[in-house]
Amino acid sequence: MPRIRQQNVLAAQWAPDGPTIGTRDLTVRDNQVFGQNVFSPAIQRQRLPKDVYKKLTQTLARGEALDTSLADAVALALKEWALEKGATHYTHVFQPLTGLTAEKHDSFYGPTDEGTSLASFSGKELIQAEPDASSFPTGGVRATFEARGYTAWDPTSPAFILENPNGALLCIPTAFVSWTGEALDTKIPLLRSMDALSKSAINALKLFGKDQVHRIFTTVGPEQEYFLIDEQYFYERPDLVTTGRTLFGAKPPKGHELDDHYFGSIPERVLAYMLDVEQELAKLGIPIKTRHNEVAPSQYEIAPIFENSNVGADHQQLTMQIMQNVARQYGLIALLHEKPFAGVNGSGKHNNWSMGTDDGENLLEPGDTPGENWQFLFFATAVIKAVNKHQGLLRATVASPGQDHRLGANEAPPAIISIFLGDELQKVFDAIEKGRAPKASSQPDLGLGTPVLPPLPKHGGDRNRTSPFAFTGNKFEFRALGSNQSLGLPNTVLNTIVAEAIDELAKELAPALKKRGAELEEVLPPILQKAYSENKQIVFNGDNYSEKWHKEAAKRGLKNLAATPDALPELVSKQTISLFTKYDVLNDRELHSRYEVFAEQYSTKLNIEAETTADIAKTLLLPAAVRHLGLLLSAELPQLASEVRELIDEFTFAITKLEEANDAENYPKSDDILDEAKYIHETVIPAMDGVREVGDKLEQVVADDLWPLPKYSEILFIK
Ligand code: ADP
Ligand code: MG
Repeated sequence: MPRIRQQNVLAAQWAPDGPTIGTRDLTVRDNQVFGQNVFSPAIQRQRLPKDVYKKLTQTLARGEALDTSLADAVALALKEWALEKGATHYTHVFQPLTGLTAEKHDSFYGPTDEGTSLASFSGKELIQAEPDASSFPTGGVRATFEARGYTAWDPTSPAFILENPNGALLCIPTAFVSWTGEALDTKIPLLRSMDALSKSAINALKLFGKDQVHRIFTTVGPEQEYFLIDEQYFYERPDLVTTGRTLFGAKPPKGHELDDHYFGSIPERVLAYMLDVEQELAKLGIPIKTRHNEVAPSQYEIAPIFENSNVGADHQQLTMQIMQNVARQYGLIALLHEKPFAGVNGSGKHNNWSMGTDDGENLLEPGDTPGENWQFLFFATAVIKAVNKHQGLLRATVASPGQDHRLGANEAPPAIISIFLGDELQKVFDAIEKGRAPKASSQPDLGLGTPVLPPLPKHGGDRNRTSPFAFTGNKFEFRALGSNQSLGLPNTVLNTIVAEAIDELAKELAPALKKRGAELEEVLPPILQKAYSENKQIVFNGDNYSEKWHKEAAKRGLKNLAATPDALPELVSKQTISLFTKYDVLNDRELHSRYEVFAEQYSTKLNIEAETTADIAKTLLLPAAVRHLGLLLSAELPQLASEVRELIDEFTFAITKLEEANDAENYPKSDDILDEAKYIHETVIPAMDGVREVGDKLEQVVADDLWPLPKYSEILFIK
């Protein structure tokens, strides 16, 4: 059946009272849903023996080691709670290096001697499981024949229930580790890095007279961008189904030029979807706060309130899963690819990051008392120092094929890492650098009443949407994450590099403070002055999208790692290995395994894209073009026919070239996995682009009813 506009009419036919919304009435206020499906501290208090609850809470609040003898008591309470909620199965959920979430379901029920069944769940089953892990990527840490891998209960991330129309599932967040003890996931290194930072920051705080802090948590609040499209179009596009992005598609006559979408009113079906997503996330204790339209047509954003990095990262994985599941109920597909549509803004994720004490003090809050200000400046300087030293590594944490389309494409920060401080904070650092007391701000209410103290703003000046790493009032915002990325690695790296910088600054400060009569206000400024001067090349407050900045950054010697194969070696540089082993976050083998897994994923994903491109070109687009040519010839329109014939010739030529480039025979024969990634980057991607270029021209000449793929103008604008 040829494609005609009929499909658009179907896609547009969603109605709020139609069957798609299901039976749920979201207008009924139900105050009880938040945390309803979480084995939260409140539920634990109700259901656990007192002493067990107390010990568990200490583990949560202070990151102390868990007494495993508690496991049986916790397992029993957990089982009873889950069964009451209708759970039939449980699973250890974990986050292998694919960046996705993995789960294997086990039934609570086992047969008895009497031919009935009984629900059981022991402490042992809570603490540890052994999934058949041979198919998860390990990057050479294990061969498949020695595939033992274990999942281990993470008591610091609460268990929860996932509902399904046919029964509920108890999910237990776990870490995934090899038989030899290497981390095979994103959670273990994140937890280790949180420990490292906590130790460093607790030490440093003592220099500021705070010795009652037991634990410092890093915090994360992700802002997630995504597209929502009608599922009809999705299933009509093999490229979206297979690769998550469109491999063909001419630019629509209308893009985001009119700026009529950004923060615009949200279409009814989309809003209904968002409400439902928020409801589902609320049940899981995920505190969603913000939703709005984004810049591109059919693009939106969702953001939760920040949480500690481990829980925040788990919740982010869950958020992406729920967003995709709920979409199906509304006849929609949530696209999390970084660049689903060429020529249209892509989707990223902002990683808001800070550090907070167990009694609730945010270490990146400028504050308004003198001591707190110097303390804030100490930690802010540590971040600047860390980001400058490890700029390449940070860049590597956000590298992926999808990101290669987005970073630097005039819609997202460039691949050059730099820091935006904002006017007010910049003035403070300028003054510190010159060894002067920062001048009182023009806003007198922000002054601190004494000339030696920096006047710090509550909100660090204007925004700069173009910066990859910005100070935004009381946190730093790492803005270069890809939209379907796990938060694990970027936060692991942030925590570890900042831990190192804090230690280095503290090492200078501690002896200086020991001198007789030394005052913090006197000895700290020169230390910050030196650190800032050495690292200020990373600071840039201007337009990161401009050509001028690229030149300036090159002059400053900042790294510009444009594509994934350029960035990945940073994961295994000498500097990285020495830092991560020193802080016991990732050892040499664990770093190399990540490097190899990411390089392999890059190659595999692009290889699939290349094959899909060739396949669509040959079996869908070329036949359409040939049919169109036949029409022109039979209508005796030789001029038009010869134009189309020319395009067809170009197209077949480009397809042949792509198939040649993507032929395994022509891939480099090398032991270094990066060589393959480089070859793909340099040879296969240009060949794909070549096919697409002609394909998109054909889209604009072939009869609309013959063209087999829905067009951007339909996918992006019919809601
Ligand atoms: P903005 O719009 O300026 O980025 P928001 O207040 O909307 O600021 O915050 C955006 C994200 O930053 C939210 O997810 C929020 O929870 C998170 N955030 C706020 N404070 C912190 C913090 N201390 N640590 C981590 N994330 C934070
Ligand atoms: Mg923000």
